[in-house]
Amino acid sequence: MEKILIIGGVAAGATAAAKARRLSPDAQITMLEAGPDISFANCGLPYYIAGDIDSRSKLILQSPESFNEQYQVEVHTNTQVSKIDREKKQVQTIDSQTGAKNTFEYTKLILAQGGKPIQPEIPGANADHVFSLWTLEDMDKIDNHLKNNEPKTAVVVGGGFIGLEMVEALVKRGLKVHVVEKMQHVMAILEAETAGFITRELRAFGVGIHTETAVTKINADSVELDNAKKINADMVLLSIGVRPTLQLAKDAGLAIGEAGGLLVNDKLQTSDPNIFAAGDMVEIEHRVNGKKVRIPLAGPANRQGRIAAENAFGGEHSYKGAIGTSVVRVFDAVAGTTGLSLKQARAAGIDADAIVVHKEHHTSYYPGAETVSVLLVFDKKTGVVLGGQTAGYKGADKRLDVVATACAAKLPVSEIADIDFAYSPPIGTANDAMNMAAYVAENKMSGYSPSIMASELDDYLESKQQVIVLDVRDVFAHQKSKMNGAYHLPLEMLQANVERIPKDIPILIYDETGKKGHQALRTLVGADCQEVVNISGGHTSLQRYAIAAGFKHIDMDMLPIGKKSIGEKVLEETETNKNVDTAELKKLVVDVRTRGEFMSGAFPDAINIPLDDLMSGNGELGEDMNREIVVYCATGARSAYAQQVLRQRGFSNVVNGGGISAMMSRY
Ligand SMILES: Cc1cc2nc3c(=O)[nH]c(=O)nc-3n(C[C@H](O)[C@H](O)[C@H](O)COP(=O)(O)OP(=O)(O)OC[C@H]3O[C@@H](n4cnc5c(N)ncnc54)[C@H](O)[C@@H]3O)c2cc1C
Repeated sequence: MEKILIIGGVAAGATAAAKARRLSPDAQITMLEAGPDISFANCGLPYYIAGDIDSRSKLILQSPESFNEQYQVEVHTNTQVSKIDREKKQVQTIDSQTGAKNTFEYTKLILAQGGKPIQPEIPGANADHVFSLWTLEDMDKIDNHLKNNEPKTAVVVGGGFIGLEMVEALVKRGLKVHVVEKMQHVMAILEAETAGFITRELRAFGVGIHTETAVTKINADSVELDNAKKINADMVLLSIGVRPTLQLAKDAGLAIGEAGGLLVNDKLQTSDPNIFAAGDMVEIEHRVNGKKVRIPLAGPANRQGRIAAENAFGGEHSYKGAIGTSVVRVFDAVAGTTGLSLKQARAAGIDADAIVVHKEHHTSYYPGAETVSVLLVFDKKTGVVLGGQTAGYKGADKRLDVVATACAAKLPVSEIADIDFAYSPPIGTANDAMNMAAYVAENKMSGYSPSIMASELDDYLESKQQVIVLDVRDVFAHQKSKMNGAYHLPLEMLQANVERIPKDIPILIYDETGKKGHQALRTLVGADCQEVVNISGGHTSLQRYAIAAGFKHIDMDMLPIGKKSIGEKVLEETETNKNVDTAELKKLVVDVRTRGEFMSGAFPDAINIPLDDLMSGNGELGEDMNREIVVYCATGARSAYAQQVLRQRGFSNVVNGGGISAMMSRY
């Protein structure tokens, strides 16, 4: 009879045990866990602290008793394995409560020991108000500290996904929070412009962000940074990464791999054929470039646990490797990554390129549309998707999963262009952001629409003696925030002025999202301009990159960050657009475009009531039914409809101001 012994009882271990039982009704299966709990939801810990999950017991998916009842697996908690004797096929254990020693035998051993948070050697790191979060006990300690000591300020050291989830949790508990990150931006795993989206959200919620700096000392009520700053901190959370738990395996003489994890083959077999391993402790192959990597995430741990169990029974299941798909939600903002970033792909010697699009997550006319961003990394010649990132308030996860699937299936962008994605007005658009990203990538590959990523701009500008930068957005957007030194020529006026543009000087174009920039580029190419390049993602990407990483050769006006608070999602800054200095208007000017369009720039002192809201009777317009109201939108179409709506509501003096260009010339 097989004796399957599993060390570690959480993600990989519990999955392996359950799978082992399904594969063999009569094998002896034993799971040894050093801690007091098995199968708990470590990914859910920050949400309990935040108050999103109201009961601790919801985080415990199985107790030793229920697990035994359901799977007939003998579970020993508080049981630390201290030695593996490979010759005798035995492990020795110590009961952490009683100190009692024990021995367990195996025919096949599965190691699922995970990792532990890295503890930095900072003076003060061992103090009582300094925490890390990995287990339920860690969570309880933090929760008790919050309840009993009522700290007002916190510093989170490390701006990775656990750190940022904890930032949100602590803000929700009423603390003023600062995050300290050694790298250039928070979420270092993301491209700077994707991280910029998260950075803005953190700032909107009042989180202090300190990048490219490290904590040098933790005091009772503050932390000191290596840039000589001091930040108030009644509590500190350390979240600077995870180290695989390898001592036991090392002592047993098992091979460690080049990425610093336990070495396993594609059957998840260690250098001892009777010992398998899964989860955070192993290193595996990256599915896109075949490089050895450690990807300490729950999804891979679960899948590996399953496969390890199958192969422990003599199965031949090959683990294909991981793509490293990970996603984070910080307050309302979601961003994620999969596969390789542009930098990683190029570092791996792949001739890679990238594009980014920003598009509504569902039709713009259906209420609640939000911008979703898709950044695609692809092989320049074959178009095969190598990775990608997405960001948005809604719909980012759906697109990320499509990119992950494309990476795994090695799909070229041309295939994605032709996929029918789920569409109805409240769900998507007939041309999904994924289709659009694929079109843009194809256009770049073919040379039809050359573009450049925000991250490449500094190098591009450095390589050119002279560049004309053209902002083709409308005047309001341009006045609100621009790349300094850019010439302003709205798209609508480009054709009429095209002869005035030098043909032999490289031209860099940007609009709001890259879409109109493409149109402008085609106009200029048609007018025989020799080198025209569109900034992929336009002003949106420029803003995000600038806030996360900053440019060397570009001076950007930054858009103001509206304040947000828990439970209130309205950006107060967008109520009126007071940035443009023009003569005061007696009339009421109503911009009926979407909130996103309005935020990118609007007529001076206009108020924003999106057409959807106007149609559903929302929007305060006052009691005076004879007051002059001017409505406008982007082109004049929505405002014509808005004019009808307002007339039906009884307003007698409503003028259709038309599109933005018409408004500009009229008023
Ligand atoms: C706060 C938090 C949030 C997270 N959020 C996400 C997320 O949103 N998405 C995501 O994909 N991943 C997330 N993760 C990571 C994810 O939880 C891990 O990748 C996953 O749990 C790894 O599973 P594992 O089984 O390899 O290791 P673990 O879950 O760490 O389990 C290993 C177990 O082995 C036990 N053990 C170790 N040594 C011994 C020994 N000698 N004897 C007996 N037992 C031993 C340990 O006590 C531990 O309980 C999060 C992790 C944390 C802590």
